[in-house]
Formats: sequence, C-alpha cells, structure tokens
Amino acid sequence: MGADTETQPLCLRFTKTATARAAARPKESLLRPPDLAQWLLAAGLGEQLPGVDEELLREARELREAIYRAARAVADAVPPAGADRDRINAWAGRNDAFRVLDGTGAAWRFPGASPARSALAVLAGDAVETLGGVRPGTVKVCAGTGCVAVFLDTTRGRSRRWCSMGTCGNRAKKDAMRVRHER
Ligand SMILES: [Zn+2]
Repeated sequence: MGADTETQPLCLRFTKTATARAAARPKESLLRPPDLAQWLLAAGLGEQLPGVDEELLREARELREAIYRAARAVADAVPPAGADRDRINAWAGRNDAFRVLDGTGAAWRFPGASPARSALAVLAGDAVETLGGVRPGTVKVCAGTGCVAVFLDTTRGRSRRWCSMGTCGNRAKKDAMRVRHER
C-alpha cells in the first residue's frame, strides 16, 4: 500500500476492500469473517483480532457498499440515497469507541461487547465526516481504467485524478508513454 493510500480516510480505504467494481465480477477481499477481522486490525481499529461471524461480515459488506454508493453520489454532487444515508447514520449512532494516547500516538479503545461492531461504527462515523464535508477535500472517482474507486482529493489545486499513484496513476503514466512510443 502506497503512502498516498495510507493517508486516505478510513471509510474510503474500507470501500477499497472491493475492487474492479466496474467489471462483471468485482474483486471481493472480504470473503470470510477472518478477512474482515484482519482488515480492521491492519487499519488500526483494534489491538487484537476482533471476533467476526458470518452475520457481521454480511452487515459490514452492506455498510461498505452504502458508503461506496454515498461517496459516488457525493462525487457526482447529488444527495446520497436515503437508504444508504440511513444505514450509515444508524451505524454511526452506535459508536461507543474512543481514542486514547499511547506511547507513540493515538489508539482506539472498544469497550463494548463486540469490538468489531464498534469498529464498523467508527468507519460509519468517518464516512459521515468525509462525505458530509467536515473533512477538507473533494470526494472523487478514480480516473483509472475500470477502477471506479472513490478517494479524497486533498491536493491544493484539487488536481488529483487517481485513487493511488502506486497503481492507477502509474498505469496511466505507462499507457501514456506507450501511446507516445507507438506513434
Ligand atoms: Zn484507481
């Protein structure tokens, strides 16, 4: 994962657990409950692998798709669908997590019965901030061929076109070079 992906808001990084969304068969990274547990841990949403069952995995994917569709709407400057807003808001309202200072920075604490559920609530809250305009930046859809990932453009001139310079940006640069070469 490139540095530019790391600085993306958590909720948009979460939407990238499904890729190639424009393809007939999008690529799903959250196939089994442990996939979600590992993603949450890697994203800093927990100190140890949280418990995830099939039901929570299904709910997580539903939340993720609601966030993705709402982000697409925001990128297109139209209001997100009511059902997507309701789902995101319901999850955001369940947030019982908080952050504490640890030795090197800030760490999440999940005092509730299900740390994974609390982590999803954190992701929903992050979506409210990111898509609700609280966070500075412009929500955009990646210009990479077949990518359609959403990202937050925080460049000064709002000139960013790709979800990641390491993948889509690089590919576009190579394609442009090849076109020049073939002429
Ligand atoms: Zn992309």
